[in-house]
Order: sequence, then structure tokens, then C-alpha cells
Amino acid sequence: GHSKSDKDKGVNVQVLVRCRPLGEDEARLNTPIVISCNEGRREVSAVQSIANKQIDRTFAFDKVFGPNSKQKELFEQAMSPIVNEVLEGYNCTIFAYGQTGTGKTYTMEGGARKKNGEFPSDAGVIPRAVKQIFDILESQTAEYSMKVTFLELYNEEITDLLAPEETLKFVDDKSKKPIALMEDGKGGVFVRGLEEEVVCTADEIYKILEKGSAKRRTAETLLNKQSSRSHSIFSITIHIKECTPEGEEMIKCGKLNLVDLAGSENISRSGAREGRAREAGEINKSLLTLGRVINALVEHSGHVPYRDSKLTRLLRDSLGGKTKTCIVATISPSIHCLDETLSTLDYAHRAK
Ligand code: ADP
Ligand code: MG
Repeated sequence: GHSKSDKDKGVNVQVLVRCRPLGEDEARLNTPIVISCNEGRREVSAVQSIANKQIDRTFAFDKVFGPNSKQKELFEQAMSPIVNEVLEGYNCTIFAYGQTGTGKTYTMEGGARKKNGEFPSDAGVIPRAVKQIFDILESQTAEYSMKVTFLELYNEEITDLLAPEETLKFVDDKSKKPIALMEDGKGGVFVRGLEEEVVCTADEIYKILEKGSAKRRTAETLLNKQSSRSHSIFSITIHIKECTPEGEEMIKCGKLNLVDLAGSENISRSGAREGRAREAGEINKSLLTLGRVINALVEHSGHVPYRDSKLTRLLRDSLGGKTKTCIVATISPSIHCLDETLSTLDYAHRAK
């Protein structure tokens, strides 16, 4: 834990925890609950006592959302201010981190749009952020332009979720340039060959999101893998033309990255087969490097190891400096997840 004064020195990393409710099956089986959330005190406690095993730990975070928390509540209390920062010209990143099945995708994407285009109450952070961005921009007179990218990182390889079908990575076509992470010579990185879609309306973004998510599922089936092993990054870049009081034109540029991270469970420990060893290593490499990068930023230590994983190289322009970062650590209340829950809480607490 760090004192409040660290935050006042301009450390812009916010860590929150969200605990999902028990699932239907878990509830029917009377699965014991070992997690309690105190939203007012912003604390999460894990308590278990069986025979000679006693666990009683309490962790404090910037915000805590219990099992009854609603999507709207989480968005309004934690995410809405970040979206405003993007419109002020900041690069911001929202991560969902946690064990598979704890609600990362539910939190980020949530329910799909209803047929008539209406917003469902279980819509997640991404559609709500898009709506807020357009509501604000459309209420102003400033000219703006917007583009989005949507990619997946699996085994340190990038797949473009917006690419036309035939150029997807899993199609073995040597004539197509592979998607590659390149240095731009000025300390930055860019992804060669990545589709950037220019968008003018919220509806266009919702369609792109649906298309990309569907492609993610198709690729999963074809490769016989699970989404739990890949990271997905949805990015919105916004340029706003403004006039200074002196009448000079100025372009403000902000970027919002919405990241659904790979499942944090240690798959080597949970019995991964031989062929998955590399996979396990790579997933953990990205997640561990992300943890180290955020820790270095929070601690103001000189060296920030961005270069140690593709995930952190990709997000370099949005981590540290004049940026805002928010990590939502998702957990299950179930006794069966306790070990993973404790490692998620440890990871998230170190990032604070
Ligand atoms: P992950 O992406 O972390 O693997 P999911 O988002 O797919 O997990 O969530 C697993 C299941 O739990 C889904 O059926 C989802 O709808 C449900 N779920 C997750 N979080 C919540 C929540 N806060 N409230 C209600 N249901 C949730
Ligand atoms: Mg998921």
C-alpha cells in the first residue's frame, strides 16, 4: 500500500476490485462464500477457516464493487471521469484483470445491444464509454474525428480483429504481410498493417465491436483455443479541433484503450499439458510485465520495463507520463476460487 500523498504527486493509477455474484449453479450447490466486500471502507476481505487452515486477510483499494453492483454504477462512479480525461487530451487505459470466469468480459463488454438498438442495463464499460464520448462531442460545436482499432494478443502474436476475413493470421497466406509491432525510431511503436477504422457515429463503433468480438470467437474455434489465453485491446483515438481565445487552431488528441486481459490463473500450476508450456510462459510474461510496469510507475522508479512484453510495448504511449490508468480486478466470491482470488488481490494491491 502507498500513502495518499503518493497519489497527490501525480500518480495516475487507480485500482478497483469487483466481485461477481455466485452463478446459478454455484448458488444451487450452496457454494460457500469466502469474500466480503465493504464498499464504504473500500475493502475486500477473504475469510476461510477449515480445520488447520486459517485465512483472514483484508485488502484496501481505491474503490470496491460488491456482488450486487450494477454496470451503470461501476461506469458512473469509476469510468465516466476517465472518459472525460480522454476528451481533455489524455491517453487512458482501462484493464480488466482476473481469473477466467470472474467477469472481465462482462465488465468490459457486457450484454449485447437489443434489436432496436436500445441500451441494455447490462451493457459494459466499452459501449457506455462510446456513448458518453459521442454525447459530449455532439453537444459541442468543436470539429472532431475518431478512429478505432481492435486487436488480440495471443502468444505474443498480434491478430487484427478488424482485418478482412482472408487476412486473418490463422489463414496461411505467405503473400500477406504479417501484422508486426514496429519501432518508429522516435521511441514509439506502431503496428504495421493494422486496420484503423474511421468512425463518425456511436452506432458505427457498436457494429465494429460486434464484428471484432465475433471474429475473436471464430478465431478461437478455428484454433481450438480459449479466449482466456488472449488479451484483447480496443482503442479509440479522438482528435478535437479547438480554437484558443486568441483565435489559434489547436488539435487535442486523446486515446482510450480498453483491455480485456488473458485469464490470470497460473495455467502451469493448474496442470497444463506440455504443448501449453510456452503459452503459459508468454501469458504470464505479459501479465507479470504489466504488473512490473505499473509498479515502477507507481513507485517512481527510474526504469520502467516496457520492452519486456508486447502488451506493454503496445500500450507504452498510454502508460506513464501524462496518462491515466485504471485496473479493474475481477474476483469470484466462491470458496473454490480462493487461491486465485488471493493472487488476484495481491497483484492488484501491488499495482496500487
Ligand atoms: P471472464 O471474461 O473473466 O472469463 P465472464 O465475463 O465471461 O468472465 O463472466 C463469467 C460469467 O459470469 C458470465 O456468465 C457472466 O455473465 C457472469 N458474470 C460475471 N460478472 C458478473 C456480474 N458482476 N454480475 C452478474 N453476472 C456476472
Ligand atoms: Mg472473457
